Amino acid sequence: MSYKPTIGMEIHVELKTATKMFCGCLNENEKIGSAEGLAPNKNVCPVCLAHPGTMPVPNVEAIKSVIKAGLALNCQIAEKSKFDRKQYFYPDLPKGYQISQYDEPLCQNGQVELSGKNIGDDSRAFAGNSHLIRIKRIHLEEDTGKLSHISDGTLVDYNRAGVPLMELVTEPDIESGAEAKEFCQELQVIFRELEIADANMEKGQMRCEVNISLSNEPRIKANVSRMDDKTEIVLKDESYELMGLLFEIHTKLGSIYKEINYQDAIEEVLKREKISYVREKQIILKFNDLELSNLFADFIVDNKILIEVKVKNFITNDDVRQTSRYIKSENLPLGIVVNFKKEKLEYKRVINPAFEKFENNSSSFVANSRSALGTKVEIKNLNSFRAVERAIDYEIKRQTGILEAGEKVVQETRGWDETKGETFSQRVKEGSADYRYFPEPDIPPLKFKTQLTELKDNENFIDVEKIKQELPEMPMKKRQRFMDEYGFALVDAKIITAAPELADYAENVISELHNWLLDSGQFEGTAEEIWNNNREKVAKLVGGWLINKLGGLLAARKLSYVENTITAENFAEFVTMIFTRRVSSTNANKLLERMLETGGDPSSILEDEDLGGGDNLDLNKLVEEIINKNPDTVAQFKNGKTALMKFFIGQIMKESKGKADPVEAENLFLQKLS
Ligand SMILES: [Zn+2]
Repeated sequence: MSYKPTIGMEIHVELKTATKMFCGCLNENEKIGSAEGLAPNKNVCPVCLAHPGTMPVPNVEAIKSVIKAGLALNCQIAEKSKFDRKQYFYPDLPKGYQISQYDEPLCQNGQVELSGKNIGDDSRAFAGNSHLIRIKRIHLEEDTGKLSHISDGTLVDYNRAGVPLMELVTEPDIESGAEAKEFCQELQVIFRELEIADANMEKGQMRCEVNISLSNEPRIKANVSRMDDKTEIVLKDESYELMGLLFEIHTKLGSIYKEINYQDAIEEVLKREKISYVREKQIILKFNDLELSNLFADFIVDNKILIEVKVKNFITNDDVRQTSRYIKSENLPLGIVVNFKKEKLEYKRVINPAFEKFENNSSSFVANSRSALGTKVEIKNLNSFRAVERAIDYEIKRQTGILEAGEKVVQETRGWDETKGETFSQRVKEGSADYRYFPEPDIPPLKFKTQLTELKDNENFIDVEKIKQELPEMPMKKRQRFMDEYGFALVDAKIITAAPELADYAENVISELHNWLLDSGQFEGTAEEIWNNNREKVAKLVGGWLINKLGGLLAARKLSYVENTITAENFAEFVTMIFTRRVSSTNANKLLERMLETGGDPSSILEDEDLGGGDNLDLNKLVEEIINKNPDTVAQFKNGKTALMKFFIGQIMKESKGKADPVEAENLFLQKLS
């Protein structure tokens, strides 16, 4: 049997603000995990060391950074928010509590679209299908200090204590290790584009936790196999789908919650399934001339089905009668009364007689709730994208093995052993920790100006609309534009847009190329027409020379693209020279290296160093000379030893000092030797 994994993630990202979250200490998080390091307890003060009487002052830049992330990830931004104290004791936490956010996070209900088309990894199971990963919430908190365990004790370094930390929680929408990795990579690119975080996993600036469970069906569906399909039932398909969702909620949550919790859960699955609904619909019933107007139906779904949610010992006749009145008053075909308090979900279908054709006995409607979501296992300490992918894949295998052996998966937290390539048990969970959250009394609530809020001019607020207008283009959009507008191949577009500075450079090169191609005098038409006719081929050259060749030269010199001395104009001219065959690819390598070393323009270097191509080279004559000089080899070639073409090309490159175009030369050889 194959099991379907359900994976959610919690991702912590250190923000790269100038100072810490609640004090003026420097936030040098980039140095904390790096080789050069930072002297222990250098960036500390009474506030982040939690001396008595100190007061935290929130860092507005950090709040704005999280809002940027929220906007980029299509979240709803809070109109008001606050900080809360999360209480727990650990020596890396100076206050004895962490300032975090509990019930009013800055951002909620976002989504990231992962798409095979845009990401370009065809090997993935979901390639070609775009897949939404929903973001449940993003909130802001402070990081903890760092403990180092030595032989005779433990050292504590509070440089990191109070560094602004963004926590992002997804819905359990991820389906594989590859997808989780891609999701994390996408987030990293987005945060870098927004310039809010470097999100380097190896440095601990981005930390991923995975929770994963297996189930034997993608989603709990109502089992209708015993139902006679010929029976006409009011809204059969719609109501079965709905019942399937109610069973899913009952299976996941069990029978111990309040009515409001089940209502929230219903709202969530209706949203997830993109089913239209109205919650708390006012029902107006008439009693003679008296209007009973304080009545509300819990949900009206798709303008057809009314749902009444109960948490009680059993559904009474009064419940059914009330539902019946509601659906008649609203002229709806069907009502469902559902009671979550029972171990087995209890429900009653209530038909509006005006719609009834034939109603089957509802007891033949049997739910299959066996395929419950499995036990949730958490994996922590994943400090690379590869570790995220491998740990998930390993865990899927491990849990599948357990389930196939007929055993139970234990609810626990597991770590990841990179060398062994295995997850290992860290601690078995016994109930959830009670952090006794309460609102942070030292920080006033936060207010935001959104389209909906009205604030007075003299009020302190953060202007969300303004932040929104200033957002840069998002990576996924940019990738698509680089493909559509510039003709880049997917794989090149992905690499180029992953680094904002490289993307900027590539855009400048492309814009310069329009004119260089026109100036080359080798093409007919306007700069635009020439570009449009050749852009795929040119973009391929740009991609290859920019990423592989220039990237390689820079890497060898330990330089970044920002430190690149070749101007976009010169690089565009260089690409034009290759495209118009003014320089052979062999000499182009040398030319590029000289350009990087001198910062000079390619045509001058070409002339000075005699690297020019075929202009004054008589290729035809050279080919004939080589053929005449090597009669034995020619004979062998003609006898079928075609691998000898390499020898001829080698000779011609040597004779021409690398100026000959190898493709052209090969064609000439083939002509003359056939
Ligand atoms: Zn401080």
